[in-house]
Amino acid sequence: MSTDLSAVETQLSGAEILLWQGKFRRSFVLVVGLGTTALKWGGVIASNSVVARRIGVHPALLIGLGMIATYLLANELFCAVIRRRGTAGRRAVAMAVLADMMLLFGMLFVVTPPAEYARGLILSIFTVQLTQLYFGSKATVFTLIVIGVAYTFVVLAAAEMGGFEAPAEQLWNLALFMVGALLFARLQGQMTKRLVRIIQLFERVQDGDFSEGYDEKFDHMPDAITVVGRAYNKMRTHLETIVLTDPVTGCFNRRGFEQLTTREVSRALRGTHPMAVLAIDVDHFKLVNDEFGHLTGDEVLREMGALLRDTARLGDVVARIGGEEFEILAPDTEIEGATILAERIHHAFETRPFASLGPNRKITVSIGIASKAARSDQVAKTLIARADEALYVAKRNGRHRTEVWHPGMRTFDGTAAGQRSVERTAANEFPTV
Ligand code: GH3
Ligand code: MG
Ligand code: MG
Repeated sequence: MSTDLSAVETQLSGAEILLWQGKFRRSFVLVVGLGTTALKWGGVIASNSVVARRIGVHPALLIGLGMIATYLLANELFCAVIRRRGTAGRRAVAMAVLADMMLLFGMLFVVTPPAEYARGLILSIFTVQLTQLYFGSKATVFTLIVIGVAYTFVVLAAAEMGGFEAPAEQLWNLALFMVGALLFARLQGQMTKRLVRIIQLFERVQDGDFSEGYDEKFDHMPDAITVVGRAYNKMRTHLETIVLTDPVTGCFNRRGFEQLTTREVSRALRGTHPMAVLAIDVDHFKLVNDEFGHLTGDEVLREMGALLRDTARLGDVVARIGGEEFEILAPDTEIEGATILAERIHHAFETRPFASLGPNRKITVSIGIASKAARSDQVAKTLIARADEALYVAKRNGRHRTEVWHPGMRTFDGTAAGQRSVERTAANEFPTV
């Protein structure tokens, strides 16, 4: 897996990051660069750099100020170009890193006493951080190489100019810095990798996919990311329930039905297994609402959901698709099996009284059935359309019955299936779930 944010869909663009970093760079250089120059100018801190020893402190500081001004100007220009282009690739990142290092080590050479060169390394950690956090490990290794080369160059040049007896101490500083920076970059890289994992989980959730959890076993770092991962796992089941089920009936909603159907279809495709869809619609449900009121109507729907789930097999997917329309997807089921299930449903409606309606008021349903061997991933779409057509025919044929889809059915009453489903939706004053 990639260690930077480019692995996620909702990634930030390189341009966006560099523009933000440009503002950070400007403020940082203004505060640190001008602050250092002022302190040195006033003689508060030492300024006997190798250059100052040759040309004097103030001229050396003026060169430093010139470098700062050039850097700030270049930074503004750089940002303007990126803003205009709207994109920024690796080359832009490399240029930003090179500019940082030129300023940092240039200043070191011009205004800092050789004994204090380690300060350059301390400050360079900001560039390492900006690079690692936003552009990943490769860009960080590049940055560290640039730091190593620039620092060595400055140390050797200063030694050449009589800056110190032996540059060994300074080079040892560099070695220690490299070890620390590499460890730091590695740790930070791991953090980003784990964050990317969590972002990817959230991206899946956006598509209603809760199939994967955060791997707690793999992640045993005692930090906030692990805590977020654990929290995600805790709410995963809860979220899945909220997003995929219908609160009134406890059955799957349309989204849940679609997701489970996709899963079942890919399973059925592995062995060309048959699958069946039952479309169920309550007969004259408007009358129930008229007689008992909508609240009781909702109560009936709740009881109906439970009844359908009790009657279906464990592996069947029971969903409320619209107001009082349900659909059952039965895996591994041919027409015979689906017809038996439909009969069981009719029987349950006839024999099980609805508590919300009392013992004397019965309701009935009409059912349309379609079954087919899974040969393409379009099978579910086809089955749902066919079951819908069969349901319509069941209504036309007098309700309280089951109709099985057959090829001649489409022309049965000469109306297109699409038109019919529109009519039904139009008659339905409740939104789909
Ligand atoms: P048909 O036999 O032709 O299906 O007659 P029907 O009255 O059931 O008509 P249809 O299926 O076209 O319309 C559904 C009616 O069900 C409309 C509305 O009064 C009722 N309904 C739909 N959704 C809900 C709901 O969530 N709660 C309640 N209480 N009633 C609903
Ligand atoms: Mg109805
Ligand atoms: Mg209906």
